[in-house]
Amino acid sequence: MSPQKLRIGRKPDNDIVVDHPSVSGYHALATLGPDHSGILEDNDSSNGTFVDGVRIRKTQFTPRSSILLGKMPFEASKIFRFDKQPDDYTFEFGEMRPVWQKLEDERVAMIDIQKKIDVMLAIPYIGRVIILLMNRHYGLENRRVKWKEDIRRLWVCPACQQPLRDYDWLTWNDCEHLKKCPKCKARWF
Ligand SMILES: [Zn+2]
Repeated sequence: MSPQKLRIGRKPDNDIVVDHPSVSGYHALATLGPDHSGILEDNDSSNGTFVDGVRIRKTQFTPRSSILLGKMPFEASKIFRFDKQPDDYTFEFGEMRPVWQKLEDERVAMIDIQKKIDVMLAIPYIGRVIILLMNRHYGLENRRVKWKEDIRRLWVCPACQQPLRDYDWLTWNDCEHLKKCPKCKARWF
């Protein structure tokens, strides 16, 4: 059995067994390429193999591709996890870099707005400006609420889904320093 060429299907001697009536005995073949890409090949299955909604004979896929074997959803990242250590979540954590960056950019932008508001609030007797400020202020409130929801929902350990915080939200650098999830011990770096 080569770890680079994986058989996927219902029968127990596949490399990855997917036990569902719509999955054929030897349903598909996955070949792992470099840099987290792979080739998925349908093996004349009865109910077909679908990648991102399209029925395929043979196509390239990534850990983020949405795969259906017959009617059974299949997590593409399972294929890439196959020859890794079970606690190795370095790839999945790497995928969260843009998520973190977006949250951080928004946090910095909100601090900038607050600073401007603080400066203008110090100027007395300008009603129109105050109204303008109020609008901006409420916009800021909504953004704060959304940011708090987003960070709680998106900034989580990719292995155990625990929010990444101790007394405050962990930054990307904090996580790099920790290297592992304190809860499930999955490796992030
Ligand atoms: Zn975890």
